[in-house]
Amino acid sequence: MTAFGIDLGTTNSCIAYVDDAGRPVIVRNAIAENLTPSVVYFERRDSIVVGSAAKNAALLAPDLAVQLVKRQMGKKGVEYTFHGTRYTPETISALILKELAAAAHRQLGRPVRDVVITVPAYFGVAEREATRQAGQIADLNVLDVLAEPVAAALSHQERHPAKRVRHLLVYDLGGGTFDTTVIRVDGDEVNVICTGGDKELGGADWDARVRDYLSNAFTERHPRLDPSADETFMQDLWIKAEQLKQELSSAMTRRRTLRFGGAAVQVEISRQRFQELTADLLDRTLKITEETIHKAARKGVSQFDEVILVGGMTRMPAVAARLEELLDAGGWRPAEGPGLWRHEPDLAVARGAALFALVKQIQQDGSPEQDGPHQQAEQIADRLGISAAQAEAMRARRVTTVVPRGLGMRVIDHGDPLATTDPSRARTMIIHLLPADTPLPADSGSVLFHTALDNQPIIEIEVWEQTEQGSSEELADNTKIGRGRLRGLPPKLPKGTSIQVTFSMNETGLLTVYAVEPGSGREVRFDLQIGGMDRAAIEKAKTAVARHDISS
Ligand code: ADP
Ligand code: MG
Repeated sequence: MTAFGIDLGTTNSCIAYVDDAGRPVIVRNAIAENLTPSVVYFERRDSIVVGSAAKNAALLAPDLAVQLVKRQMGKKGVEYTFHGTRYTPETISALILKELAAAAHRQLGRPVRDVVITVPAYFGVAEREATRQAGQIADLNVLDVLAEPVAAALSHQERHPAKRVRHLLVYDLGGGTFDTTVIRVDGDEVNVICTGGDKELGGADWDARVRDYLSNAFTERHPRLDPSADETFMQDLWIKAEQLKQELSSAMTRRRTLRFGGAAVQVEISRQRFQELTADLLDRTLKITEETIHKAARKGVSQFDEVILVGGMTRMPAVAARLEELLDAGGWRPAEGPGLWRHEPDLAVARGAALFALVKQIQQDGSPEQDGPHQQAEQIADRLGISAAQAEAMRARRVTTVVPRGLGMRVIDHGDPLATTDPSRARTMIIHLLPADTPLPADSGSVLFHTALDNQPIIEIEVWEQTEQGSSEELADNTKIGRGRLRGLPPKLPKGTSIQVTFSMNETGLLTVYAVEPGSGREVRFDLQIGGMDRAAIEKAKTAVARHDISS
Protein backbone atom coordinates (compact mmCIF):
# COMPACT_ATOMS: atom_id res chain seq x y z
CA MET A 1 0.00 0.00 0.00
CA THR A 2 1.28 3.44 -0.90
CA ALA A 3 2.38 5.56 2.04
CA PHE A 4 1.72 9.29 1.95
CA GLY A 5 3.39 12.34 3.41
CA ILE A 6 1.16 15.15 4.63
CA ASP A 7 2.21 18.71 5.35
CA LEU A 8 -0.61 19.82 7.65
CA GLY A 9 0.15 23.52 7.44
CA THR A 10 -1.18 26.51 9.30
CA THR A 11 -2.37 28.09 6.08
CA ASN A 12 -1.98 25.43 3.44
CA SER A 13 -1.83 21.67 3.48
CA CYS A 14 -0.35 19.33 0.94
CA ILE A 15 -0.16 15.57 0.32
CA ALA A 16 2.51 13.66 -1.59
CA TYR A 17 3.69 10.12 -2.30
CA VAL A 18 6.73 8.48 -3.86
CA ASP A 19 6.17 7.32 -7.43
CA ASP A 20 7.45 4.21 -9.19
CA ALA A 21 10.66 5.96 -10.13
CA GLY A 22 11.33 6.76 -6.46
CA ARG A 23 10.56 10.46 -6.78
CA PRO A 24 8.21 12.31 -4.46
CA VAL A 25 5.15 13.65 -6.26
CA ILE A 26 2.56 16.13 -5.03
CA VAL A 27 -1.05 14.99 -5.43
CA ARG A 28 -3.30 17.77 -6.65
CA ASN A 29 -6.68 18.31 -5.05
CA ALA A 30 -10.09 18.16 -6.75
CA ILE A 31 -9.61 21.60 -8.31
CA ALA A 32 -6.05 20.86 -9.47
CA GLU A 33 -4.27 22.85 -6.79
CA ASN A 34 -1.05 21.63 -5.17
CA LEU A 35 -1.96 23.35 -1.93
CA THR A 36 -5.27 23.07 -0.12
CA PRO A 37 -5.96 26.01 2.18
CA SER A 38 -6.28 24.75 5.76
CA VAL A 39 -9.68 26.35 6.12
CA VAL A 40 -12.84 24.54 7.17
CA TYR A 41 -16.27 26.00 6.46
CA PHE A 42 -19.35 24.63 8.22
CA GLU A 43 -21.95 25.19 5.58
CA ARG A 44 -24.78 23.18 7.12
CA ARG A 45 -25.16 20.70 9.87
CA ASP A 46 -23.85 17.78 7.81
CA SER A 47 -22.01 19.57 5.07
CA ILE A 48 -18.48 20.76 5.55
CA VAL A 49 -16.30 22.45 2.98
CA VAL A 50 -12.48 22.35 3.10
CA GLY A 51 -9.95 24.29 1.01
CA SER A 52 -10.20 27.21 -1.39
CA ALA A 53 -14.00 27.09 -1.47
CA ALA A 54 -13.98 27.31 2.32
CA LYS A 55 -11.52 30.21 2.20
CA ASN A 56 -13.86 32.05 -0.17
CA ALA A 57 -17.00 31.16 1.76
CA ALA A 58 -15.32 32.50 4.89
CA LEU A 59 -15.46 35.92 3.21
CA LEU A 60 -19.20 36.04 3.49
CA ALA A 61 -19.69 34.08 6.68
CA PRO A 62 -16.50 34.26 8.75
CA ASP A 63 -18.38 32.99 11.79
CA LEU A 64 -18.90 29.64 10.09
CA ALA A 65 -15.24 29.10 9.24
CA VAL A 66 -12.10 28.02 11.10
CA GLN A 67 -8.67 29.21 9.94
CA LEU A 68 -5.19 28.91 11.48
CA VAL A 69 -6.34 25.99 13.64
CA LYS A 70 -2.75 24.73 13.86
CA ARG A 71 -2.01 27.55 16.30
CA GLN A 72 -4.51 25.93 18.68
CA MET A 73 -3.18 22.36 18.41
CA GLY A 74 -2.51 20.79 21.78
CA LYS A 75 -4.10 23.65 23.72
CA LYS A 76 -6.53 22.49 26.32
CA GLY A 77 -10.09 23.79 26.39
CA VAL A 78 -10.17 25.25 22.86
CA GLU A 79 -13.53 24.43 21.30
CA TYR A 80 -15.64 25.55 18.37
CA THR A 81 -19.37 25.02 17.98
CA PHE A 82 -21.13 24.94 14.61
CA HIS A 83 -24.77 24.01 14.08
CA GLY A 84 -24.91 22.54 17.55
CA THR A 85 -21.86 20.27 17.18
CA ARG A 86 -18.68 20.86 19.15
CA TYR A 87 -15.24 20.57 17.57
CA THR A 88 -11.74 20.57 19.01
CA PRO A 89 -8.58 21.64 17.12
CA GLU A 90 -7.90 17.92 16.61
CA THR A 91 -11.28 17.24 15.00
CA ILE A 92 -11.00 20.34 12.78
CA SER A 93 -7.54 19.18 11.67
CA ALA A 94 -8.95 15.70 11.07
CA LEU A 95 -11.46 17.22 8.63
CA ILE A 96 -8.57 18.77 6.67
CA LEU A 97 -6.68 15.46 6.67
CA LYS A 98 -9.77 13.59 5.49
CA GLU A 99 -10.17 16.02 2.62
CA LEU A 100 -6.55 15.54 1.53
CA ALA A 101 -6.87 11.77 1.81
CA ALA A 102 -10.12 11.75 -0.16
CA ALA A 103 -8.60 13.88 -2.92
CA ALA A 104 -5.58 11.57 -3.20
CA HIS A 105 -7.87 8.53 -3.26
CA ARG A 106 -9.87 10.06 -6.13
CA GLN A 107 -6.77 11.09 -8.08
CA LEU A 108 -4.82 7.86 -7.70
CA GLY A 109 -7.61 5.35 -7.23
CA ARG A 110 -5.87 4.00 -4.11
CA PRO A 111 -7.07 4.52 -0.56
CA VAL A 112 -4.87 6.54 1.77
CA ARG A 113 -4.09 4.77 5.01
CA ASP A 114 -0.41 4.94 6.06
CA VAL A 115 0.77 8.51 6.52
CA VAL A 116 3.52 10.63 8.00
CA ILE A 117 2.32 14.05 9.15
CA THR A 118 4.71 16.93 9.66
CA VAL A 119 4.85 19.39 12.56
CA PRO A 120 7.04 22.43 13.29
CA ALA A 121 10.31 21.37 14.90
CA TYR A 122 9.57 23.29 18.08
CA PHE A 123 6.15 21.71 18.64
CA GLY A 124 6.12 20.21 22.11
CA VAL A 125 4.79 16.85 23.23
CA ALA A 126 1.17 17.98 23.51
CA GLU A 127 1.08 19.50 20.01
CA ARG A 128 2.72 16.43 18.44
CA GLU A 129 0.28 14.15 20.21
CA ALA A 130 -2.65 16.33 19.11
CA THR A 131 -1.42 16.02 15.51
CA ARG A 132 -1.15 12.25 15.78
CA GLN A 133 -4.66 12.15 17.21
CA ALA A 134 -6.00 14.29 14.37
CA GLY A 135 -4.66 11.61 12.01
CA GLN A 136 -6.31 8.84 14.01
CA ILE A 137 -9.62 10.68 14.04
CA ALA A 138 -9.35 10.97 10.26
CA ASP A 139 -9.01 7.17 10.20
CA LEU A 140 -5.40 7.26 9.08
CA ASN A 141 -2.57 5.09 10.31
CA VAL A 142 -0.01 7.65 11.45
CA LEU A 143 3.38 5.99 10.89
CA ASP A 144 5.08 8.95 12.52
CA VAL A 145 5.02 12.69 12.97
CA LEU A 146 8.10 14.32 11.46
CA ALA A 147 9.63 17.74 12.00
CA GLU A 148 9.02 19.98 8.99
CA PRO A 149 12.67 21.10 8.57
CA VAL A 150 13.81 17.47 8.60
CA ALA A 151 11.25 16.76 5.87
CA ALA A 152 12.56 19.74 3.90
CA ALA A 153 16.13 18.47 4.33
CA LEU A 154 15.13 14.99 3.10
CA SER A 155 13.52 16.52 0.05
CA HIS A 156 16.59 18.66 -0.60
CA GLN A 157 18.88 15.68 -0.17
CA GLU A 158 16.86 13.71 -2.68
CA ARG A 159 17.27 16.48 -5.25
CA HIS A 160 20.91 17.22 -4.44
CA PRO A 161 22.43 14.04 -3.06
CA ALA A 162 25.85 14.41 -1.46
CA LYS A 163 27.94 11.85 0.30
CA ARG A 164 29.94 14.09 2.62
CA VAL A 165 28.74 15.58 5.88
CA ARG A 166 26.72 18.74 5.37
CA HIS A 167 25.22 21.27 7.72
CA LEU A 168 22.02 22.85 6.60
CA LEU A 169 20.21 25.87 7.90
CA VAL A 170 16.50 25.61 7.21
CA TYR A 171 14.55 28.87 7.30
CA ASP A 172 10.81 28.23 7.12
CA LEU A 173 8.41 31.15 6.97
CA GLY A 174 4.85 30.03 6.32
CA GLY A 175 1.46 31.62 6.75
CA GLY A 176 1.27 31.40 10.50
CA THR A 177 4.50 30.04 11.90
CA PHE A 178 8.18 30.67 11.59
CA ASP A 179 10.97 28.31 12.43
CA THR A 180 14.61 27.88 11.74
CA THR A 181 16.60 24.72 12.28
CA VAL A 182 20.17 23.55 11.98
CA ILE A 183 20.47 20.07 10.54
CA ARG A 184 23.41 17.75 10.02
CA VAL A 185 23.21 15.37 7.09
CA ASP A 186 25.74 12.56 6.92
CA GLY A 187 24.90 10.22 4.08
CA ASP A 188 21.76 8.51 5.25
CA GLU A 189 21.72 10.05 8.67
CA VAL A 190 19.82 13.24 9.36
CA ASN A 191 20.15 14.96 12.75
CA VAL A 192 18.55 18.07 14.14
CA ILE A 193 21.25 20.09 15.92
CA CYS A 194 19.01 22.80 17.30
CA THR A 195 15.92 24.74 16.48
CA GLY A 196 14.16 28.00 17.23
CA GLY A 197 10.94 29.61 16.14
CA ASP A 198 7.81 31.57 16.84
CA LYS A 199 4.44 29.97 16.25
CA GLU A 200 2.69 33.33 16.28
CA LEU A 201 4.67 34.80 13.40
CA GLY A 202 3.89 34.25 9.75
CA GLY A 203 2.46 35.54 6.48
CA ALA A 204 -0.83 36.53 8.14
CA ASP A 205 1.11 39.20 10.07
CA TRP A 206 2.45 40.64 6.82
CA ASP A 207 -1.08 40.57 5.39
CA ALA A 208 -2.34 42.51 8.42
CA ARG A 209 0.17 45.31 7.75
CA VAL A 210 -0.92 45.62 4.13
CA ARG A 211 -4.58 45.47 5.17
CA ASP A 212 -4.05 48.36 7.63
CA TYR A 213 -2.20 50.31 4.97
CA LEU A 214 -5.10 49.85 2.54
CA SER A 215 -7.78 50.74 5.06
CA ASN A 216 -5.84 53.82 6.23
CA ALA A 217 -5.47 54.94 2.64
CA PHE A 218 -9.24 54.63 2.24
CA THR A 219 -10.20 56.56 5.38
CA GLU A 220 -7.65 59.27 4.66
CA ARG A 221 -9.45 59.96 1.42
CA HIS A 222 -12.94 59.55 2.95
CA PRO A 223 -12.68 60.45 6.64
CA ARG A 224 -16.44 60.36 7.14
CA LEU A 225 -16.86 56.81 5.84
CA ASP A 226 -16.06 54.00 8.23
CA PRO A 227 -15.77 50.65 6.47
CA SER A 228 -14.02 49.00 9.41
CA ALA A 229 -17.28 47.67 10.85
CA ASP A 230 -18.30 46.13 7.54
CA GLU A 231 -17.31 42.48 7.68
CA THR A 232 -17.52 41.84 3.98
CA PHE A 233 -15.35 44.85 3.19
CA MET A 234 -12.79 43.86 5.80
CA GLN A 235 -12.63 40.22 4.66
CA ASP A 236 -12.20 41.39 1.09
CA LEU A 237 -9.40 43.62 2.30
CA TRP A 238 -7.65 40.55 3.72
CA ILE A 239 -7.79 38.81 0.35
CA LYS A 240 -6.54 41.92 -1.47
CA ALA A 241 -3.75 42.37 1.07
CA GLU A 242 -2.53 38.81 0.63
CA GLN A 243 -2.69 39.06 -3.17
CA LEU A 244 -0.74 42.32 -3.13
CA LYS A 245 1.90 40.81 -0.87
CA GLN A 246 2.32 37.85 -3.21
CA GLU A 247 2.39 39.98 -6.34
CA LEU A 248 5.06 42.23 -4.83
CA SER A 249 7.40 39.23 -4.75
CA SER A 250 7.73 39.61 -8.50
CA ALA A 251 6.35 43.10 -9.28
CA MET A 252 7.83 46.38 -8.03
CA THR A 253 4.51 48.16 -7.58
CA ARG A 254 0.82 47.18 -7.57
CA ARG A 255 -2.58 48.90 -7.36
CA ARG A 256 -6.01 47.99 -6.05
CA THR A 257 -9.36 49.74 -6.04
CA LEU A 258 -11.33 49.78 -2.78
CA ARG A 259 -15.06 50.43 -2.89
CA PHE A 260 -17.31 51.28 0.02
CA GLY A 261 -20.41 53.41 0.60
CA GLY A 262 -20.45 54.60 -2.99
CA ALA A 263 -16.79 55.73 -2.92
CA ALA A 264 -13.94 54.17 -4.87
CA VAL A 265 -10.30 54.70 -3.93
CA GLN A 266 -7.32 53.47 -5.88
CA VAL A 267 -4.40 52.58 -3.65
CA GLU A 268 -0.88 51.98 -4.88
CA ILE A 269 1.82 50.16 -2.97
CA SER A 270 5.44 49.65 -3.95
CA ARG A 271 7.68 46.79 -2.92
CA GLN A 272 9.83 49.36 -1.12
CA ARG A 273 6.86 50.64 0.90
CA PHE A 274 5.73 47.08 1.63
CA GLN A 275 9.17 46.19 2.92
CA GLU A 276 9.19 49.26 5.19
CA LEU A 277 5.76 48.40 6.58
CA THR A 278 6.87 44.90 7.48
CA ALA A 279 10.58 45.40 8.26
CA ASP A 280 10.20 44.68 11.97
CA LEU A 281 8.52 41.33 11.21
CA LEU A 282 11.37 40.20 8.99
CA ASP A 283 13.80 41.47 11.65
CA ARG A 284 12.15 39.19 14.18
CA THR A 285 12.77 36.15 11.99
CA LEU A 286 16.40 37.16 11.50
CA LYS A 287 16.92 37.66 15.21
CA ILE A 288 15.59 34.16 15.91
CA THR A 289 17.78 32.81 13.09
CA GLU A 290 20.84 34.49 14.57
CA GLU A 291 20.08 33.08 18.02
CA THR A 292 19.70 29.63 16.50
CA ILE A 293 23.01 30.00 14.67
CA HIS A 294 24.70 30.94 17.95
CA LYS A 295 23.11 27.96 19.63
CA ALA A 296 24.49 25.74 16.87
CA ALA A 297 27.93 27.30 17.32
CA ARG A 298 27.88 26.26 20.97
CA LYS A 299 27.29 22.73 19.69
CA GLY A 300 30.23 22.94 17.35
CA VAL A 301 28.53 23.91 14.09
CA SER A 302 29.87 27.22 12.88
CA GLN A 303 29.31 27.10 9.12
CA PHE A 304 26.47 26.11 6.86
CA ASP A 305 27.03 24.35 3.59
CA GLU A 306 23.55 25.15 2.41
CA VAL A 307 20.62 27.30 3.41
CA ILE A 308 17.22 25.95 2.48
CA LEU A 309 14.29 28.30 2.18
CA VAL A 310 10.94 26.75 2.99
CA GLY A 311 7.42 28.21 3.17
CA GLY A 312 5.51 30.37 0.72
CA MET A 313 6.73 33.58 2.35
CA THR A 314 10.33 32.88 1.33
CA ARG A 315 9.26 33.78 -2.20
CA MET A 316 9.64 37.39 -1.01
CA PRO A 317 13.00 38.55 -2.35
CA ALA A 318 13.74 40.37 0.91
CA VAL A 319 14.08 37.06 2.77
CA ALA A 320 16.99 35.72 0.74
CA ALA A 321 18.64 39.15 0.58
CA ARG A 322 18.56 39.68 4.34
CA LEU A 323 19.66 36.11 5.07
CA GLU A 324 22.66 36.50 2.75
CA GLU A 325 23.61 39.66 4.63
CA LEU A 326 23.30 37.94 7.98
CA LEU A 327 25.40 34.95 6.92
CA ASP A 328 28.10 37.12 5.37
CA ALA A 329 28.28 39.44 8.36
CA GLY A 330 28.78 36.48 10.69
CA GLY A 331 31.18 34.60 8.42
CA TRP A 332 28.87 31.61 8.60
CA ARG A 333 29.34 30.60 4.99
CA PRO A 334 32.26 28.52 3.77
CA ALA A 335 34.53 30.16 1.19
CA GLU A 336 33.12 28.28 -1.80
CA GLY A 337 29.90 30.05 -0.88
CA PRO A 338 26.89 27.84 -1.47
CA GLY A 339 23.70 29.44 -2.59
CA LEU A 340 20.43 29.76 -0.81
CA TRP A 341 18.20 27.01 -2.12
CA ARG A 342 14.61 27.64 -2.88
CA HIS A 343 12.72 25.10 -4.90
CA GLU A 344 8.94 25.33 -4.68
CA PRO A 345 9.34 26.23 -1.02
CA ASP A 346 5.75 25.48 -0.10
CA LEU A 347 5.88 21.88 -1.43
CA ALA A 348 9.23 20.74 -0.04
CA VAL A 349 7.87 19.60 3.31
CA ALA A 350 5.19 17.33 1.83
CA ARG A 351 7.75 15.83 -0.56
CA GLY A 352 10.13 15.05 2.29
CA ALA A 353 7.29 13.62 4.36
CA ALA A 354 6.43 11.28 1.47
CA LEU A 355 10.04 10.07 1.30
CA PHE A 356 10.05 9.51 5.03
CA ALA A 357 6.70 7.71 4.94
CA LEU A 358 8.23 5.25 2.49
CA VAL A 359 11.27 4.81 4.73
CA LYS A 360 9.01 4.13 7.71
CA GLN A 361 6.93 1.68 5.78
CA ILE A 362 10.01 -0.19 4.63
CA GLN A 363 11.48 -0.25 8.12
CA GLN A 364 8.26 -1.54 9.67
CA ASP A 365 7.71 -4.13 6.98
CA GLY A 366 9.56 -7.30 6.28
CA SER A 367 10.05 -10.45 8.29
CA PRO A 368 13.63 -10.55 9.56
CA GLU A 369 13.39 -14.09 10.92
CA GLN A 370 12.91 -15.69 7.50
CA ASP A 371 14.70 -13.60 4.93
CA GLY A 372 18.04 -11.91 4.72
CA PRO A 373 18.04 -8.15 4.47
CA HIS A 374 18.79 -8.25 0.78
CA GLN A 375 15.83 -10.50 -0.05
CA GLN A 376 13.63 -8.30 2.07
CA ALA A 377 14.71 -5.18 0.26
CA GLU A 378 14.01 -6.94 -3.03
CA GLN A 379 10.53 -7.93 -1.97
CA ILE A 380 9.76 -4.46 -0.75
CA ALA A 381 11.20 -2.95 -3.91
CA ASP A 382 9.04 -5.28 -5.92
CA ARG A 383 5.90 -4.33 -4.12
CA LEU A 384 6.65 -0.61 -4.24
CA GLY A 385 7.88 -0.70 -7.78
CA ILE A 386 11.27 0.81 -6.96
CA SER A 387 14.75 -0.65 -7.43
CA ALA A 388 16.23 -2.93 -4.77
CA ALA A 389 19.11 -0.49 -4.35
CA GLN A 390 16.64 2.30 -3.65
CA ALA A 391 14.80 0.20 -1.09
CA GLU A 392 18.10 -0.75 0.55
CA ALA A 393 19.15 2.89 0.73
CA MET A 394 15.80 3.81 2.23
CA ARG A 395 16.07 1.22 4.91
CA ALA A 396 19.48 2.47 5.93
CA ARG A 397 18.31 6.04 6.29
CA ARG A 398 18.10 7.28 9.82
CA VAL A 399 16.52 10.40 11.10
CA THR A 400 17.46 11.51 14.56
CA THR A 401 15.46 14.18 16.26
CA VAL A 402 15.78 16.05 19.52
CA VAL A 403 13.74 16.81 22.62
CA PRO A 404 11.81 19.81 21.29
CA ARG A 405 11.46 21.65 24.58
CA GLY A 406 12.95 21.10 28.00
CA LEU A 407 11.06 18.67 30.24
CA GLY A 408 11.21 18.83 33.98
CA MET A 409 9.64 18.27 37.32
CA ARG A 410 8.15 20.67 39.83
CA VAL A 411 10.04 20.78 43.14
CA ILE A 412 10.16 22.92 46.26
CA ASP A 413 12.90 25.54 46.25
CA HIS A 414 15.15 24.71 49.17
CA GLY A 415 16.56 28.22 49.04
CA ASP A 416 13.22 29.51 50.33
CA PRO A 417 13.17 29.67 54.18
CA LEU A 418 9.54 28.50 54.07
CA ALA A 419 10.82 25.17 52.69
CA THR A 420 11.74 24.14 56.24
CA THR A 421 9.03 25.96 58.21
CA ASP A 422 5.97 25.64 55.91
CA PRO A 423 6.77 23.69 52.75
CA SER A 424 3.22 23.91 51.43
CA ARG A 425 3.68 27.66 51.03
CA ALA A 426 7.29 27.58 49.83
CA ARG A 427 8.26 28.68 46.34
CA THR A 428 8.23 25.88 43.80
CA MET A 429 10.26 25.71 40.65
CA ILE A 430 10.99 23.48 37.67
CA ILE A 431 14.12 21.36 37.41
CA HIS A 432 14.67 20.23 33.82
CA LEU A 433 15.71 16.60 33.56
CA LEU A 434 15.76 16.54 29.76
CA PRO A 435 16.99 19.83 28.32
CA ALA A 436 15.76 21.02 24.93
CA ASP A 437 17.72 19.71 21.93
CA THR A 438 18.91 16.50 23.61
CA PRO A 439 19.09 13.92 20.79
CA LEU A 440 16.41 11.22 20.85
CA PRO A 441 16.24 8.61 22.24
CA ALA A 442 17.08 10.52 25.40
CA ASP A 443 17.52 9.37 28.98
CA SER A 444 18.11 11.63 31.95
CA GLY A 445 19.67 8.88 34.04
CA SER A 446 18.44 8.64 37.59
CA VAL A 447 18.20 12.04 39.27
CA LEU A 448 18.04 12.36 43.04
CA PHE A 449 15.30 14.32 44.85
CA HIS A 450 14.28 14.43 48.51
CA THR A 451 10.89 14.46 50.20
CA ALA A 452 9.89 17.77 51.75
CA LEU A 453 7.62 16.59 54.59
CA ASP A 454 7.66 13.95 57.28
CA ASN A 455 5.33 10.95 56.80
CA GLN A 456 4.53 11.65 53.15
CA PRO A 457 2.25 8.76 52.01
CA ILE A 458 2.15 9.93 48.39
CA ILE A 459 4.59 11.82 46.23
CA GLU A 460 3.13 13.77 43.39
CA ILE A 461 5.30 13.92 40.29
CA GLU A 462 4.34 16.82 38.09
CA VAL A 463 5.82 16.93 34.61
CA TRP A 464 6.34 20.36 33.09
CA GLU A 465 7.51 21.45 29.68
CA GLN A 466 9.24 24.74 28.99
CA THR A 467 7.08 27.03 26.91
CA GLU A 468 9.52 29.04 24.86
CA GLN A 469 13.20 29.26 24.05
CA GLY A 470 15.72 29.08 26.83
CA SER A 471 15.48 27.06 29.98
CA SER A 472 13.92 28.76 32.99
CA GLU A 473 13.05 27.37 36.40
CA GLU A 474 10.11 29.77 36.79
CA LEU A 475 6.68 28.13 36.74
CA ALA A 476 5.42 30.91 34.48
CA ASP A 477 7.87 29.85 31.74
CA ASN A 478 6.71 26.23 31.79
CA THR A 479 3.42 24.38 31.34
CA LYS A 480 2.21 21.38 33.24
CA ILE A 481 1.75 18.53 30.81
CA GLY A 482 1.11 15.56 33.04
CA ARG A 483 1.47 13.96 36.41
CA GLY A 484 1.81 10.68 38.22
CA ARG A 485 1.78 9.55 41.83
CA LEU A 486 4.20 7.46 43.81
CA ARG A 487 1.89 5.76 46.29
CA GLY A 488 2.04 3.23 49.09
CA LEU A 489 5.19 4.62 50.63
CA PRO A 490 6.15 3.11 53.99
CA PRO A 491 4.69 4.89 57.03
CA LYS A 492 6.82 7.34 59.02
CA LEU A 493 9.02 8.19 56.08
CA PRO A 494 11.22 11.03 57.34
CA LYS A 495 11.53 14.16 55.28
CA GLY A 496 14.65 14.25 53.18
CA THR A 497 14.11 10.65 52.02
CA SER A 498 15.66 10.10 48.61
CA ILE A 499 13.52 9.60 45.55
CA GLN A 500 15.13 8.75 42.23
CA VAL A 501 13.45 10.01 39.08
CA THR A 502 14.26 9.17 35.47
CA PHE A 503 12.81 10.81 32.37
CA SER A 504 13.26 9.09 29.05
CA MET A 505 11.91 9.88 25.62
CA ASN A 506 11.83 7.57 22.60
CA GLU A 507 12.30 8.55 18.94
CA THR A 508 8.64 9.31 18.47
CA GLY A 509 8.56 11.74 21.37
CA LEU A 510 6.81 9.50 23.88
CA LEU A 511 7.94 10.46 27.38
CA THR A 512 8.24 7.85 30.11
CA VAL A 513 8.68 8.91 33.72
CA TYR A 514 10.01 6.50 36.32
CA ALA A 515 10.29 7.25 40.02
CA VAL A 516 11.44 4.98 42.83
CA GLU A 517 11.89 5.23 46.59
CA PRO A 518 14.97 2.99 46.96
CA GLY A 519 14.38 2.17 50.64
CA SER A 520 11.06 0.39 50.06
CA GLY A 521 11.41 -0.27 46.36
CA ARG A 522 8.03 1.40 45.75
CA GLU A 523 8.00 2.69 42.23
CA VAL A 524 5.83 4.32 39.63
CA ARG A 525 6.22 4.40 35.88
CA PHE A 526 3.96 6.32 33.54
CA ASP A 527 3.87 7.40 29.96
CA LEU A 528 2.92 10.95 29.68
CA GLN A 529 -0.72 11.74 30.28
CA ILE A 530 -0.95 14.45 27.72
CA GLY A 531 -3.75 16.96 27.84
CA GLY A 532 -5.22 15.50 24.65
CA MET A 533 -7.90 12.88 24.27
CA ASP A 534 -8.06 9.31 25.45
CA ARG A 535 -8.83 6.38 23.16
CA ALA A 536 -12.57 6.51 23.76
CA ALA A 537 -12.68 10.20 22.91
CA ILE A 538 -10.73 9.57 19.70
CA GLU A 539 -13.15 6.82 18.67
CA LYS A 540 -16.09 9.10 19.35
CA ALA A 541 -14.56 11.97 17.39
CA LYS A 542 -13.84 9.54 14.54
CA THR A 543 -17.49 8.63 14.09
CA ALA A 544 -18.54 12.27 14.40
CA VAL A 545 -16.08 13.29 11.68
CA ALA A 546 -16.99 10.35 9.46
CA ARG A 547 -20.65 11.34 9.54
CA HIS A 548 -19.95 14.55 7.66
CA ASP A 549 -19.96 14.80 3.99
CA ILE A 550 -16.88 16.80 3.14
CA SER A 551 -16.61 18.60 -0.14
CA SER A 552 -14.06 20.95 -1.56
P1 ADP B 1 2.05 27.15 5.97
O1 ADP B 1 3.24 26.29 6.04
O2 ADP B 1 1.98 28.13 7.09
O3 ADP B 1 0.76 26.45 5.80
P2 ADP B 1 2.89 28.04 3.28
O4 ADP B 1 4.29 27.57 3.32
O5 ADP B 1 2.00 27.47 2.27
O6 ADP B 1 2.21 28.06 4.70
O7 ADP B 1 2.95 29.63 3.09
C1 ADP B 1 1.80 30.36 3.04
C2 ADP B 1 2.15 31.82 3.08
O8 ADP B 1 3.02 32.12 2.00
C3 ADP B 1 0.93 32.69 2.95
O9 ADP B 1 1.01 33.78 3.86
C4 ADP B 1 1.04 33.17 1.53
O10 ADP B 1 0.43 34.43 1.33
C5 ADP B 1 2.54 33.26 1.36
N1 ADP B 1 2.96 33.26 -0.04
C6 ADP B 1 2.63 32.36 -1.01
N2 ADP B 1 3.16 32.73 -2.18
C7 ADP B 1 3.83 33.90 -1.95
C8 ADP B 1 4.58 34.80 -2.77
N3 ADP B 1 4.74 34.58 -4.08
N4 ADP B 1 5.12 35.90 -2.18
C9 ADP B 1 4.94 36.15 -0.88
N5 ADP B 1 4.26 35.34 -0.06
C10 ADP B 1 3.69 34.23 -0.59
MG1 MG C 1 4.67 25.00 6.30
